[in-house]
Amino acid sequence: MDIASITSAYSGLKIAKDIFIGFTDLKIEADSIGKINEAVKKVGDAQDALFQLREELFRLQEDNNSLKSTIKEFNSWEDKLAEYELVKTSGEAVVYKFKADPEHFICPSCVANKSIQILQDNKTMSGTFRCVSCNGSYPIKKEEKFKQIQFDSPWP
Ligand SMILES: [Zn+2]
Repeated sequence: MDIASITSAYSGLKIAKDIFIGFTDLKIEADSIGKINEAVKKVGDAQDALFQLREELFRLQEDNNSLKSTIKEFNSWEDKLAEYELVKTSGEAVVYKFKADPEHFICPSCVANKSIQILQDNKTMSGTFRCVSCNGSYPIKKEEKFKQIQFDSPWP
């Protein structure tokens, strides 16, 4: 049952109620008036029930629309995240790596909050990348070591 059919049933009951009320203006026996009043009350109760049903239907339709939009958002997030894969980098950081080009990594902490944040290279010897959103830092590249340079001793 949709809102239009509830509204039309509600209007039908209102007409029936008006007809019953019209009977009370006629000269009829007291016993019949009692029965007509009872019928008017029952029609009124049915109208109240339909009114509540219509309110409930409105509420359910709002819930339905809200859930549909939540599902749509969830699906679009899943599609975006599907472009990445969880990897362990040479520096042993566990992050998401883009499957295509250009190569880049995204912050796993921000992914947990449904946000894609590209990690930026700190350009340091430690090989650390940082997330500009949450300030997380990840050892993406292997740490570069200083090479010991041998100098010839000036002393004989
Ligand atoms: Zn982050």
